[in-house]
Amino acid sequence: MRIIVHVDMDAFYAAIEERSNPALRGLPLVVGADPKGGRGRGVVMTANYQARRFGIRSALPVSRAWRLADAARRRGEPETIFVRSNFQLYETVSSRIMQIFERFSDAHEEASIDEAYLDISSLTSFDDAQIKMATLKNEIHEQEGLGCSIGIGPNKLIAKIASSRNKPDGLTVITQQEVQGFLDPLPIRVIPGIGPKSEAFLHQQNVRIVRELREIPQATLMQWFGSWGLRLFEKAQGVDDSPVSNEWTRKSVGEQETFEHDSRDLALVSEQLDRMAERVLAKLRRNEFSGFRTMTLTVRFSDFDTRNRSRTVKSGIAIDNTGNALQLIKKQALDLLLPFFDARENPRGKAIRLIGLRLEKLL
Ligand SMILES: [Mg+2]
Repeated sequence: MRIIVHVDMDAFYAAIEERSNPALRGLPLVVGADPKGGRGRGVVMTANYQARRFGIRSALPVSRAWRLADAARRRGEPETIFVRSNFQLYETVSSRIMQIFERFSDAHEEASIDEAYLDISSLTSFDDAQIKMATLKNEIHEQEGLGCSIGIGPNKLIAKIASSRNKPDGLTVITQQEVQGFLDPLPIRVIPGIGPKSEAFLHQQNVRIVRELREIPQATLMQWFGSWGLRLFEKAQGVDDSPVSNEWTRKSVGEQETFEHDSRDLALVSEQLDRMAERVLAKLRRNEFSGFRTMTLTVRFSDFDTRNRSRTVKSGIAIDNTGNALQLIKKQALDLLLPFFDARENPRGKAIRLIGLRLEKLL
């Protein structure tokens, strides 16, 4: 049995600003761009809970936030304080908090500056997990003076949804037995990946809550959404096998280069492509891969028309130390490039602005 936790810091940037300046405490506070009396550009990064009462939230244009704050003030609410964001400070605080997460878990995964997943399966009981996470909340509060909301569940999906149910300062536990009852009455929008467009589409199909989504056959969801429909079917049942891990898996190596002058010179472009092949192969070796299956060449013309052409060798191309791999990569890359110098890919003889070379399906 897995026990997975999602921790989300409450109004993270605003809470740090309040901590730095106690005079702000209790007042509506907005962190983000300078509102310049309603004419400022840029957006709100975070609003504290007092400011959220006025309809101010993250990603809102700061000019609009300023008008909402002004309207609230006219109604007799306290004046909203706007402060500019200080990311260096937020990063520093975040890395200290991530260290606390590390101490409290078997594995942790930084999901963003103020969110993380923890794997605490070794505790083997949800009761013990709840006690330990209450201790974690205290620790963050004592060390950093900051609040967080925590969700505990049998996987990342449930933990994430649980942490969002009781904010701020929440601690929500959903055991495996409780998963379906927890999910069923919630609006479909709680499922990560369902954005405004899929939500609108599903509403048209009379699917509004997770229970209704769960009753749609897998085949229908796949008809509607393609392969993502399969994932959606699993999510609606509360299934998520993804591991908690900070190990970022590299899916490809490559690079691209913009020429100083747009070029129609095959000798010059293929020379650059050769050098690029050498660097990309070196990158593959540095990352300790033993080969690849797919090579993709990107060509951007002077008018920014951009094309990708790929070649896949199903059995894979192994890289050894004999230099054969380099010759093979150079030859394949040239094969992909040549059609861009004749009527096959470039009938109007356009000049080339950029090339890119990428190795994918790494072995
Ligand atoms: Mg947060």
